[in-house]
Amino acid sequence: MNPNIQASDSAPKEKNTQSTQQLPDFTLIGAGLVGSLLAVYLRKRGFAVDVHERRPDPRVVGAYAGRSINLALSARGIEALKKVGIDREVLGTGMPMKGRIMHSTSGATTEQAYGKEGEQIYSVSRGGLNQTLMSLAEREGARLHFEEKCIQVDPIQKQIVLEQAQAPTIRKQAYQRLIGTDGAYSALRDYMMRSDRFDYSQDYLPHGYKELSIPPTADGSFALSPDSLHIWPRGTYMMIALPNPDRTFTCTLFFPFEGNPSFNSLKDPNDIFGFFQQQFPDALALMPDLVDEYLRNPTSSLVTVRCAPWNLDSDHLLMGDAAHAIVPFYGQGMNCGFEDVRVFDELIDEHHERWDFIFPAFSAHRKANADAIADLAKANFIEMRDKVADPDFLLRKRIEARINQMYPNRWTPLYSMVTFRPDIPYHTALNRGKVQDTWMDQLMKEGDWHQNFGTKAMDDAIARGMETYTESL
Ligand SMILES: Cc1cc2nc3c(=O)[nH]c(=O)nc-3n(C[C@H](O)[C@H](O)[C@H](O)COP(=O)(O)OP(=O)(O)OC[C@H]3O[C@@H](n4cnc5c(N)ncnc54)[C@H](O)[C@@H]3O)c2cc1C
Repeated sequence: MNPNIQASDSAPKEKNTQSTQQLPDFTLIGAGLVGSLLAVYLRKRGFAVDVHERRPDPRVVGAYAGRSINLALSARGIEALKKVGIDREVLGTGMPMKGRIMHSTSGATTEQAYGKEGEQIYSVSRGGLNQTLMSLAEREGARLHFEEKCIQVDPIQKQIVLEQAQAPTIRKQAYQRLIGTDGAYSALRDYMMRSDRFDYSQDYLPHGYKELSIPPTADGSFALSPDSLHIWPRGTYMMIALPNPDRTFTCTLFFPFEGNPSFNSLKDPNDIFGFFQQQFPDALALMPDLVDEYLRNPTSSLVTVRCAPWNLDSDHLLMGDAAHAIVPFYGQGMNCGFEDVRVFDELIDEHHERWDFIFPAFSAHRKANADAIADLAKANFIEMRDKVADPDFLLRKRIEARINQMYPNRWTPLYSMVTFRPDIPYHTALNRGKVQDTWMDQLMKEGDWHQNFGTKAMDDAIARGMETYTESL
């Protein structure tokens, strides 16, 4: 460890030069959400950290258009921020959301709380959070090098090739330990794929997404209730809206690429307006720039990436989306990446800088959890776009909330396990959720709970069922 290292920020600007300076303990590729938080954690332990980020510094040039304007931050992410004392700073800028509000085509709304009283998730600005984390990383002493894109990794020579946007020049940079926090299309992972017995898969959803917006009302108020996530579920597609502190909402339309209706079929301004008038009339009334935004904003794809192992020997590691990109329907991609960082830090405590233990242990420990949340995220798309409009589904959720109230230590709904219980690993939540589903199927058959919700008969049926329910997995 070399906490006092000076320098490769006076990085050589000449072509094809090799840094001769003392190397930092860790070199990170990518100063996104996970890379910046990891840099904070590593600096807090006194390691020297260099981060190479392909984009310009967003604090200088303004936030770049990321994959979404805002993100839902929940307990796993908050837990990781808390450990380095920055949870309050981040939550102070977030918009608490206590539940979801579903909008039907008639404009009627139905509410569903996310959890118990006091349990909420937070809509935070992606750009703002990234900039905060970058500044904290620098304040702790990490060196961030912007406009340096890693275009090659040589694990044998232990050097990366960086393309600098400014000159442009190419330079080589040696490293001791390299961590790829460079997102779903990771350069490090590209090179790991060439190593023997490295598993890799990626699959795209047939749906893409487009961001739209709802501005404040004429008197400057929020146009919709700001303490909830809004959903317009429409069977095979949906739109959602998350509040922002500036009283706007960022809407995301998740829509098939092909077929009818689809991004491919909906291109004409009149058709776009007509379609929204038919499917999202209450939202359309709040979206004065809809057609312009729809035509102007990009349509992006949604990928799931799985790979294993996440380490190559004890010097190369993947973390965050570079190791496990997932679809956004559980609002967990960043939260899972932040949890990666916390777990990695716990492994350093446990194995005292034995990287030959820590890197493979991290990969083994996190892989099953990342696979679980990838599966849950895909399943939640169907729940959000389709089931949340179904009265039977909503009744089932209300009954689960009642069970949780009666047996708080034995029954936690799946959504709550994933979103509010960092002490329950994702794969345990997935398995417990499956058991609960079967158990709930049975309970739903035992009475007409639409008629008898909240009666003694319902509580008795729950109590009988709980005699056979076991939550341990
Ligand atoms: C539409 C949408 C909505 C989402 N909503 C949520 C949500 O509500 N909650 C949630 O938890 N998650 C959400 N996610 C997921 C979340 O965005 C990601 O999980 C998270 O951004 C992963 O962080 P990361 O740092 O691993 O990767 P990234 O955020 O992708 O950061 C990677 C960084 O590496 C840099 N980089 C890439 N390649 C190179 C290279 N070759 N050289 C140098 N630098 C490089 C990039 O410029 C970037 O700064 C959402 C995702 C999408 C697509």
